Amino acid sequence: MLTSIKKHLKSNGNLKHARVIALFSLVGMAITGAMGILSLWGNSSTLTIILFIASAIYLSAFFLSKKFSLKVSGTIIIYSLYLLMFYLVFSGGVAQTGPLWVFIVAPVSVYVLGLRQGLINLAVFLSVVSIIMFLPQHVIEHASYTPEFKLRLILSFLTMTFLSALYEYSRMQSYKNVVALSSKYQQLAMSDPLTKLANRRNASAVLQQEKSRVNRNNEPLSVLLCDLDHFKAVNDKYGHNAGDMVLMELSQIFTDHVRQQDCVARWGGEEFLFILPQTSAEQANIIAEKIRASVQQHSIIFHKHQIKITISIGIAQLSEDQSIDELINHADKNLYQAKTLGRNRVHPG
Ligand code: GH3
Ligand code: MG
Ligand code: MG
Repeated sequence: MLTSIKKHLKSNGNLKHARVIALFSLVGMAITGAMGILSLWGNSSTLTIILFIASAIYLSAFFLSKKFSLKVSGTIIIYSLYLLMFYLVFSGGVAQTGPLWVFIVAPVSVYVLGLRQGLINLAVFLSVVSIIMFLPQHVIEHASYTPEFKLRLILSFLTMTFLSALYEYSRMQSYKNVVALSSKYQQLAMSDPLTKLANRRNASAVLQQEKSRVNRNNEPLSVLLCDLDHFKAVNDKYGHNAGDMVLMELSQIFTDHVRQQDCVARWGGEEFLFILPQTSAEQANIIAEKIRASVQQHSIIFHKHQIKITISIGIAQLSEDQSIDELINHADKNLYQAKTLGRNRVHPG
């Protein structure tokens, strides 16, 4: 159950992530395309070509994000962005304004790559940008910036990196909190607080699910409806806390006797429902008899009192065209039979 919630949230998160990455690609395509068109009037044909290539790359990342994994489109976005930024810092772009664009690298990196990998990439990115800016002109000719500009660019980039990392960290923390809270409330909504077994709502959902499986695969499905014998007397004699302890210990015996695919639920106060997929009424009878015998042999020790209890069980196997309500009613009738025939017995379906 919990893993299904986590999976749901994760796929939901991935879907949003995919949408944002698709949006990044489209915005990147539009901006680089517009800048490319503007630079047609400038005097750098290399810049125009590079901007149009970048625009085409973002467009392809957009289509890739729809068809392939997020990793592929994310990697394309990030590394083509880095290359474009290196070029803008190197060439100065239009009238030395190229470095202004480097600030978008910080939020995009941590969002697309996550906090750890994003920060590693940003450290490498800033180092490369610094090397480009501080590279002596005699090594290779490139746009030159004043020392004040270079220093402030690095400092403001570091500030932007810090803020982006902080934002990504709180985003991840909130996401983790939401997952933890949803799991907790889902568990509370689906299980019985005393016995920790599935509650009636959960059992009803399992029954519906199993019924559709039966219809598909034509496999038998049986249920056991189990009621504690003279339980009121236990409460009257030893108190309600003793009664609660009996319910908890018997729940443990019940879960010890079923397979992984079975479901034991607290159906009512002292009534338990076992849902046994791929089990015929004959097989269910054997299981029920084992459970009944185990309970009979068990003693519950409560404040030095030894409490003995027995249970009665009614069995029903789902037949074709029978509804879940009819199945439970059938099991209930058999439980009633077990009670009237003297209790501490199993009445087969
Ligand atoms: P029978 O053999 O006919 O089933 O007799 P019974 O005494 O078990 O049946 P009855 O329906 O008269 O009593 C059921 C009792 O179960 C009454 C109620 O107080 C007790 N009960 C139900 N839920 C709880 C619970 O959560 N804790 C405790 N301690 N008792 C509970
Ligand atoms: Mg009862
Ligand atoms: Mg009872």
